[in-house]
Amino acid sequence: MSWPADYHMHTPLCRHASGEPAEYAARAVTVGLTEIGFSDHSPMRRDDFDNWRMRFDQLDEYVENVRRVQKDSAGLVVKLALEVDYLPGHEEWIRELAARHPWDYLIGSVHYVSDSWAVDNPETIAKWKERDPFEVWSGYFDRLTQAADSGLFEIIGHADLPKKFKIYPKEDCTPLFNRFLETAQKKNVAIELNTAGLRKECREIYPSRAFLQLARQHKIPITFGSDAHAPSEVGSAFAEAIALARAVGYTHSCRFDQRRRSESLL
Ligand SMILES: [Zn+2]
Ligand SMILES: [Zn+2]
Repeated sequence: MSWPADYHMHTPLCRHASGEPAEYAARAVTVGLTEIGFSDHSPMRRDDFDNWRMRFDQLDEYVENVRRVQKDSAGLVVKLALEVDYLPGHEEWIRELAARHPWDYLIGSVHYVSDSWAVDNPETIAKWKERDPFEVWSGYFDRLTQAADSGLFEIIGHADLPKKFKIYPKEDCTPLFNRFLETAQKKNVAIELNTAGLRKECREIYPSRAFLQLARQHKIPITFGSDAHAPSEVGSAFAEAIALARAVGYTHSCRFDQRRRSESLL
């Protein structure tokens, strides 16, 4: 059996990851992966938007860094990608980014539920106390649904990210999940199984088993990602993620090349 590709990993250009891209690739080989993709946090139109992504003038350097790893990693397929923040109104900027380099795929992620609050940022966790959890989850899934509907992304990242700090609404979120999944199905967008959740307070893969079951019913394709911010995290908990995918009925994961999807057996 070969492992699915690890399509979600970062580089130090985003200012909160450690280790050189070559070390991530070396770790991938060590743990037996045959394909990885770098998907670092993409720049915003304004570099002062926040402090946890590469600056726009570093985008070419990022691409060169990944190209170098591609050349130096015989036997390991290395894809060039970005994790792009989806915010309503940023579509034109995202189209500009998409046109700048021949990306293999773009992961669309929602971190921001407003222009100033990223729900997963530990520095602003206090904001959760000022808001009703269901209101936050609803706002988040509105944006996630818009991200899927935008047609800008091949993959939607860590779909139930608001659970990171274990702040769950009392209300049933199934209608929010279903609305997103119906849109993802209509727009032919994949979701990822992101194992970083296991390393956070929620101690659970993104998305949850219940969510993934619904995704399977909607025939949503899946990718796998460690969301590594250090070389040691590459391929982290992939056995557990594969077991979860199989448990809800998945038989394939997908790969991307030049934004075209193919399927491989799990
Ligand atoms: Zn990050
Ligand atoms: Zn993310």
